[in-house]
Amino acid sequence: MKYIETQVSDLLTATHPQMLKYYKLRQKEHKKVLFTDVELEKKDIIIKYLVEPTYEGEEQPQEVSTNGQTFTNTTDYTTSVFFKTWWKFFTKESLSNAIIPLNDFKFMLEFAPVKVHCTCPAFHWIGSKYEVGKDDNSALYPTKIKDPIWSKRNLKNYGVKGVSEICKHLYQTLPKLEKDSKKILKQLNLRLQEWLDSGYRIDMRQGLIR
Ligand SMILES: [Zn+2]
Repeated sequence: MKYIETQVSDLLTATHPQMLKYYKLRQKEHKKVLFTDVELEKKDIIIKYLVEPTYEGEEQPQEVSTNGQTFTNTTDYTTSVFFKTWWKFFTKESLSNAIIPLNDFKFMLEFAPVKVHCTCPAFHWIGSKYEVGKDDNSALYPTKIKDPIWSKRNLKNYGVKGVSEICKHLYQTLPKLEKDSKKILKQLNLRLQEWLDSGYRIDMRQGLIR
């Protein structure tokens, strides 16, 4: 993949159609794809989701008892979508008053350059993280470790050459951004107000600075 800047739609379309077919097949198993928060990292924002893992065959979630408490041993994965230069999509006035309008926010979701991450083991080990970080630096935490195995397996099982750009959790997350945009924006405006109250200010060239 060679983009100067990657947008959300690039990540979705850069994934091989055969892989997408498989992701869609597994889609109904992800009952939970939950927006959790908007965080600030340096001057850029990260939108976070929790995504329930899927289970195949015998790897069903187990009931575990610890200290008299019983719980189901599931680990939700956290997906992160990092928006670079997000503030450039808004007016200084709306930023300074923490009242970003919904339409501007939707436009930002679609066109701002993104970096992504998922905490699932697959994102790293199937080579996605390497792949998205390679040419266009859209891996939030890039790696130099290539995938030695899965690309061969993908070719054999799905006829897919190379690796998938995103894991199935990010595949669930990215289309939700637009659907959840109202909810996410409400949280962003709240967070923005907190950041402004704690001494950050908006600089239209550099973003949120202290
Ligand atoms: Zn994942």
